[in-house]
Amino acid sequence: MDDSTPAMTPDATRDADRTTREPVVVVDHVNKHFGDLHVLKDINLTVGKGDVVVVLGPSGSGKSTLCRTINRLETFESGQILIDGQPLPEEGKALAQLRADVGMVFQSFNLFAHKTILQNVTLGPIKARGQNKAAAEKRALELLERVGVAQQKDKYPAQLSGGQQQRVAIARSLAMDPKVMLFDEPTSALDPEMINEVLDVMTSLAKSGMTMIVVTHEMGFARRAADRVVFMADGEIVEQNTPEEFFTNAQSSRAKDFLSKIL
Ligand code: ADP
Ligand code: MG
Repeated sequence: MDDSTPAMTPDATRDADRTTREPVVVVDHVNKHFGDLHVLKDINLTVGKGDVVVVLGPSGSGKSTLCRTINRLETFESGQILIDGQPLPEEGKALAQLRADVGMVFQSFNLFAHKTILQNVTLGPIKARGQNKAAAEKRALELLERVGVAQQKDKYPAQLSGGQQQRVAIARSLAMDPKVMLFDEPTSALDPEMINEVLDVMTSLAKSGMTMIVVTHEMGFARRAADRVVFMADGEIVEQNTPEEFFTNAQSSRAKDFLSKIL
């Protein structure tokens, strides 16, 4: 190994915000306030191509705000965010392109109630990507097949279970060929028996090489699918580590306290 190649020792992988892969998302010294509340405090996070980063932390620690800031649903005061090397656009066409590149799945499914499942998935590619209807439908059917709801294609969202709707929401995001997928507590609003069907889709997406940032309380998913766990508290990234290290050997008192309450 020549000197320019960093050694992949356990300590190197443990290093904060380090990834060995080509960066897709770079959050660089980002600060954000809501009035007097300093909700993101000097956040640094690099997510490489194919990385699966699970964000954990107590309620109110800034996890959703971080996701929304990466997608420019929120503004921020200082620092910078790069997606595939490009700074976040403020508005206009470039912002629409960014929203297509950064897929987001929320706790609530946010499907269009008056469109069929198939239309929900084809709408973005036709409107924002300029795809023709036939090509968009072909791709949508492949994606609905992949998430296991192809048979529901002509139904309306209200006719589907919560788990099915969330899988459609994932397919809808994937139809835009995003560079990264953000998930903000995608299973929190689901009945318990539907959680696994959504986590299974996310796990297979992770295995397929999708770059993912996932806020979740599902520790099984974090252990199984995450390359890295990022622990947030009070607007800060307190520590990040491999899931094995984080769950067995958390460093900070805030992480230990958090884990003692949930495990
Ligand atoms: P988490 O997702 O980790 O639970 P959030 O990012 O939702 O945390 O919230 C972080 C903090 O910012 C909380 O104290 C919350 O009350 C506050 N907050 C979130 N959104 C807003 C908003 N739109 N206006 C004012 N305060 C907000
Ligand atoms: Mg949240």
